Amino acid sequence: MKTIIEPFRIKVVEPIRMTTAEQRDRLIHAAGLNLFALRAEDVLIDLLTDSGTSAMSSEQWAGIMRGDESYAGATSFFRLHSRVHDMTGFDHILPTHQGRASERILFDTVGAPGKIVPNNNHFDTTRANVEHSGAEAVDLVIDEGHDPQSRHPFKGNMNVQKLRALIERVGAERIPLCMMTITNNTGGGQPVSLANLREVQEVCRFHGIPFFLDACRFAENAYFIKMREPGMQDRPVDSIVREVFDLADGATISGKKDGLVNIGGLLLLRDEALAREARNNLILTEGFPTYGGLAGRDLEALAQGFAEVLDESYLAYRIRSVAYLGEKLIESGVPILEPPGGHAIYLDARRFCPHIPAEQFPGQAVAIAIYRLAGIRTVEIGSLMFGSENTQPTMELVRLAIPRRVYTQSHIDYVAEAVVELHERRHELRGLRIVEAPVALRHFTARLEEVESPTA
Ligand SMILES: *Cc1c(COP(=O)(O)O)cnc(C)c1O
Repeated sequence: MKTIIEPFRIKVVEPIRMTTAEQRDRLIHAAGLNLFALRAEDVLIDLLTDSGTSAMSSEQWAGIMRGDESYAGATSFFRLHSRVHDMTGFDHILPTHQGRASERILFDTVGAPGKIVPNNNHFDTTRANVEHSGAEAVDLVIDEGHDPQSRHPFKGNMNVQKLRALIERVGAERIPLCMMTITNNTGGGQPVSLANLREVQEVCRFHGIPFFLDACRFAENAYFIKMREPGMQDRPVDSIVREVFDLADGATISGKKDGLVNIGGLLLLRDEALAREARNNLILTEGFPTYGGLAGRDLEALAQGFAEVLDESYLAYRIRSVAYLGEKLIESGVPILEPPGGHAIYLDARRFCPHIPAEQFPGQAVAIAIYRLAGIRTVEIGSLMFGSENTQPTMELVRLAIPRRVYTQSHIDYVAEAVVELHERRHELRGLRIVEAPVALRHFTARLEEVESPTA
């Protein structure tokens, strides 16, 4: 059989509301041309993010009923601890309400002015937390990772030469840890090879620098390793996952991705003293270390999610369904970041509408147009998210993130049709300008308007 079917059937359905183009036009203008300001009920297919949007399984919902809500020492915590310990080998497992809380606690503890944190690419909240601590965040992804048309199998890899040069230049004592984001969300959901993880870890170990993972999509990354890395084809995914975690001194994880839950995160640590400090910080703002900002039922759902995400028929379907959308767009000449990543398809807005200059937010213009045309919500990852007055990001992308186990193949076909139709009418798109925006993480709340003419 060529068709890879959804390896589940549907037990509960949630209606989605149809809207007309006129309604959407009004709604998006009221939202200041910012898709974050829309009400979800006004969205037909929501590809804003794959974060916290997974459909939970019947076993996860059963776990919700089993949740132990004791303040301290809840059975649900020990179930999660045992699951995560078996999967990763870590002993210090701190639950948090989501990934960025893990990041804040980590960088509160190790970050400071004068410190430098390398990563393949920092995710936006990771960068914000590094910088909030006073430290500097440095991205060292390989050059292919900046080239939307390169079909390198592991475009999330770190340039090890650049890492060595950085350490040489600033000194290992100024680098409190080195991070690797798997898969590389900001760089297009691109995987990192096991060989590259081993090499970076080796360099870190040589210099006494702790090696950390931003492991939000550890299972998807491991599946890419199995599919693409020589010699890995016959290896079970859980064994690849284990080797990757064995390399690391710590990890931040958002459970809202490969944890297959709607809320939750983890901070994993090996060092006893660091874990003690992090736990004290956790108690201050998240909660007691056996619940860490979550309800007992959330811990249950997360424990079960980490088991289900390693099911290889799930991962085959997951990676295949994202690639399916990518292939449909490529066939019709729509410029996307190639090859398709693990959790999303990224439109290359620079090639999609070359007539809109970077300072007029071509990615946001495409994202707004997709909503107006078809009610599909996507997100800009480009000059609105990462640019400022004097810097522009290297890529101008629009991300179509695919929630896990939520949409069927016909939803995806509809998405492909809409994007292809918009691409055929791309010359009608107009650039945008900011009307008002905050200083940090401006893409969440900025208000924009269209510039007058397509070439203005
Ligand atoms: C989502 C994400 C985070 C932050 O996690 P939240 O749960 O959204 O706080 C950090 N890093 C990466 C790579 C992510 O995708």
